[in-house]
Amino acid sequence: MRLELRLVCTRLCLLACLATPYATQLAASQEAPSDVTVIVDIKGPYSQIAIKEMQREATQIIHTSGVRLDWQRRENIANTVFNDLVVMTFKGSCTFDPAPPIYDELGPYAITRTANGEVQPFGEVDCDRVVNSVRTAMFGEDYSRGELLIGRALGRVVAHELVHMLTRSGQHAHDGVQKAALSGKQLISRSLPLSAMDVDRLRLERHTVRP
Ligand SMILES: [Zn+2]
Repeated sequence: MRLELRLVCTRLCLLACLATPYATQLAASQEAPSDVTVIVDIKGPYSQIAIKEMQREATQIIHTSGVRLDWQRRENIANTVFNDLVVMTFKGSCTFDPAPPIYDELGPYAITRTANGEVQPFGEVDCDRVVNSVRTAMFGEDYSRGELLIGRALGRVVAHELVHMLTRSGQHAHDGVQKAALSGKQLISRSLPLSAMDVDRLRLERHTVRP
């Protein structure tokens, strides 16, 4: 369930060989099956640019499966009812500058909560750890768009946890955003989509009617 800098998760992995083209084809040929509201609860300082980019990146990644995301800030949702929602809490400092404190690189970027073996719609992102990892992968012109790259990385971390929540599963993939471990370089690379297998898992789960 944990997305970590290095391989720590030991759950079953998915085979995924034809990731992007197949996924794109499927998305284009079918209607979006449902909408999910992501409640964003930010506990520490943050960059507006980074949060906006985080939402854009996660929306784009998940939308490949046909699932449409809606974003709401926790402070704005009093007395509002949502059909299908998940809550993502962000702790630490979600900004490129100043640099967060350096600590153990082996900890998770984020976690999704479980209870009695069931995946719950509650996730928590460690912004400090994500920012630390991204900063080690940056060079040259990357520094001129630091907040944007932090947002991109956060979006991929969030997308990873959303797949766990939406599929109610701790499964990981061999490639793409749902790998058990992602490096800072992968978090800010040009593209990191869902694998074709994850697209199928998401689509199947969203079409399954639960009692
Ligand atoms: Zn994971």
